[in-house]
Amino acid sequence: MFEENLKDIVAALDAHTYDALLLTTPENRFYATGFHSSDGVVLISKNRALYATDFRYFEDAGDRVKGYELVMVTRENPYAKIIEDFCRAEGVKALGFEDAAMSVAAHGALRQRLSVSLVPESGLMASLRMIKKDFEVERIVAAQRIAEKAFEKLLPSIKPGLRERDVAAELDYQIRLCGAQGNSFETIAVSGANGSHCHGVPGDRKLQDGDFLTLDFGALLDGYCSDMTRTVAIGHVTEEMRTVYNVVLNAQLESIAAAKAGIIGAELHAVADRIISEAGYGAYFGHGLGHSVGIEVHDGAGASPSNPKPIPAGAVVTIEPGIYLPGKFGVRIEDFLLFTEGGSRNLTETPKELLIL
Ligand code: ZN
Ligand code: ZN
Repeated sequence: MFEENLKDIVAALDAHTYDALLLTTPENRFYATGFHSSDGVVLISKNRALYATDFRYFEDAGDRVKGYELVMVTRENPYAKIIEDFCRAEGVKALGFEDAAMSVAAHGALRQRLSVSLVPESGLMASLRMIKKDFEVERIVAAQRIAEKAFEKLLPSIKPGLRERDVAAELDYQIRLCGAQGNSFETIAVSGANGSHCHGVPGDRKLQDGDFLTLDFGALLDGYCSDMTRTVAIGHVTEEMRTVYNVVLNAQLESIAAAKAGIIGAELHAVADRIISEAGYGAYFGHGLGHSVGIEVHDGAGASPSNPKPIPAGAVVTIEPGIYLPGKFGVRIEDFLLFTEGGSRNLTETPKELLIL
């Protein structure tokens, strides 16, 4: 499984201006090794892969990290020395580093210690992580099934009088009970006029008859995330609420129909934007249509107006249009799709017809 990821990183080294790569973020270290730790470094050259971590993780890593030479970090053998030794032994002249994540302090310390030049990896890891392997898709789908089951179990308990934070707590509890190792991000539960705060924090507002309630949530399983949003109504809806819901749903369905490998991210966003704008709500759809999902819930570029690149086959990207009417309500509907040649596979199974509880 993760040995394939290591192979891909090694193969990608050829196309870059550095001859070895230093990985320091937990997410990229996980992608490279399949092992989670709060501390560690990965060093990869054409001929050698090294994983260094400290005492707390060393034994566990010995059992689970495959294809790497393991080195324990100690006071006598700190990370800086391990990196220096690796570069010297491998004759590294240019070392790629995670420019989007490394702190200025860490970069300064490395520059002082090493006699190699430090070269930004410039999106190599993001582009590798964007294209999911079958085992990664399986984990993402399994996480999604947990989230769907948790949502189903939550629905009967949603009623007027419940606070947003209660709904979020119950959903999080169900996500755990259904088998997730955690949430893939902090659950969003916003209701009524709060619904226009698309990424609002669940608060003390109590659900009322005539509310829309938007729930945006995900499960984390075996290191992979899911992401979905459903907006449900409490008691009844006004005509305006029904109209807005249908515009969002229509924008979502049309975007899904247009989704296929090779489509430019910004063009896919434009499909939803056009439908929402033609319905007169263009000013109230202020975020991108979707993002890549994987080891992180926002795993990379997707169907956003600022993405000029084609979405590749194997990408898992959300489709989540929304309309947010300040002081009134908000609606967002989110599925995520596996992009394939000529189409896509929707990884979300929860229905999305307007549900009035
Ligand atoms: Zn979401
Ligand atoms: Zn999302």
